[in-house]
Amino acid sequence: MSELEGSGYKGKAFQLLQQADCSVGDILKITSKGKTYEGILIPRFGEGVAIIIKMKSGYNIGIEATTEVKVEKIGKGTVPKFEAPQLPKQKPSLPHVVIMSTGGTIASRVDYRTGAVRSAMSASDLYGVVPELADIARVDTEIVYSIYSENLTPQNWTELAQTVAKRIEQGVDGVVIAHGTDTMAYTSAALSFALQNLPVPVILVGAQRSSDRPSSDAATNLIGAVKAAGEAPFAEVGLAMHETVSDIATVIHRGTKVRKCHTSRRDTFKSVNGFPIAKVQNLQITITSDSYQKRDPKRKITLKPHFNDKVALVKFHPGLDPAVIDFYVEKGFKGILLEGSGLGHVSKFCFDAIKRATAKGVVVALASQCIWGRVDMNVYDTGRDLLSFGVVPLEDMFPETGLVKLMWALGQTSDPKEATALLKANVAGEYSPRTLPQEEKLPNEGGN
Ligand code: ASP
Repeated sequence: MSELEGSGYKGKAFQLLQQADCSVGDILKITSKGKTYEGILIPRFGEGVAIIIKMKSGYNIGIEATTEVKVEKIGKGTVPKFEAPQLPKQKPSLPHVVIMSTGGTIASRVDYRTGAVRSAMSASDLYGVVPELADIARVDTEIVYSIYSENLTPQNWTELAQTVAKRIEQGVDGVVIAHGTDTMAYTSAALSFALQNLPVPVILVGAQRSSDRPSSDAATNLIGAVKAAGEAPFAEVGLAMHETVSDIATVIHRGTKVRKCHTSRRDTFKSVNGFPIAKVQNLQITITSDSYQKRDPKRKITLKPHFNDKVALVKFHPGLDPAVIDFYVEKGFKGILLEGSGLGHVSKFCFDAIKRATAKGVVVALASQCIWGRVDMNVYDTGRDLLSFGVVPLEDMFPETGLVKLMWALGQTSDPKEATALLKANVAGEYSPRTLPQEEKLPNEGGN
C-alpha cells in the first residue's frame, strides 16, 4: 500500500512523488537546478511545497517541488516491523485498571530510518513495554483511537467519556488514558466536566519522547498513572506527567487546573492557580492537595458527555478588529470566550460588538491571558462596563479550561441563562476558592 496518503505532502510535491511511485521510506534521487540529491523520503510536517529527504549524512533537506524538478525512485523502503512484547502475567490480588490508548507520542514508535514518529503501539503493547506494570495492577487494555491529539475534536471527548463511564460501571478500580500531550489538558478538562461523581480515579498520561526511545519519559509516567488509578484515595480526573526533568517522580495534576507549558521538556505540565492532587515516587503516593473527592467504589457516576463546538476563543490584543466578534455571531456561534488582558479587559472599540453578541443570546465569558491569578472586573471602568454588557468573568480559570467549560455548558442547555449559571458553578474544581500566590509551598512539599 502506498504510504503517500497521510504523509503530509500536497499539491505539486504529492504529484511528483505519486508519478514516481514513491512512498515514505523509499530512496529517491531528486534533480533540481542542475544538482542531484539522494536520500530517504520522510513525511512532511507543516506547510510548504518542499519534498523532504534524509541524506546519508543524517541531515534532512527540503527541495522545492516545481515543474523543473525530477524525482526518481532508486530504492524501495522496508516497512519497519514491531513485534509486540510478551504480555506480563496478571496477579489476581492487585487492583483492576484499564489502560485506554488514544494515540500521541506515548503510543508511538520512531522509525529510525526516516526519523519520523508514527502511531504504532496499542495499549497492550505499552503494557508489554513497561513490564513493571504487572506488579502494580491487573491491566486490561483498549484502543479507543490512534490519533495525534491535535486531531481530536469535542466529538472525541464525548465518545471517550462514554467509553470511560462504561468501564467504570463495569467495576474497574481506575482508568488510565494514554494521550498525546498537545491537547491533553483540554481533554482532561473536558472529562472533568463530563464525568461527574466519579467513584474511582481517571488519569490521563502522555510522554514527550516516544516509548521506544532510551530517553523516553513514558515508563515513569505510566507507572505513576497506573499506581494512582489503582490505589490513590481520590476519585477525580487527573493528569500524570514528570514532576521535573529527571525520571524521579510523577505528579498528578487536577484535570481542570493543568496546562502544557513547554514545547519539549518532560515536566511540561504545570498546575496553574492550584496544586497537583498527588505525587507518585518509588511507588508511594503522597497527597499534595488539601481537598479532593474521595474514592468510593459505591458512588454512581453521572455522565454529562455533550459539548457544543459552536464556541470560539477570541484572544484580545491591541488593535483587535471587533468584526472578528461580529463574524462569530453572524456564523451562529453560541458562545465566545474572550481571552482578556490583565484583570479582565478588552478595548472599548470592541464594546458595541460584545453588546450585539449578548443581545443575540450569545454567552460571552472572559478569562485572563495572564494565565496566573484571578480576573477582577470591578477594579477598572473597562471591567465594570463589560460586566454591565453581561460578560461572565471566569475567576481564576485559564482560557483553555474556560473554553472547554463554555463548550460543555452549552452542550447541556441552549438557554443562555442556564448556561451562564453552569459556568458560574464550581463543577470540577475549576475555580480555586482563593487566589494562590505561586511562591506558596505545597502541603507536604518543599516547593512547587
Ligand atoms: N503531537 C503529539 C500529540 O499531541 C505530541 C505528543 O503526544 O506529545 O499527539
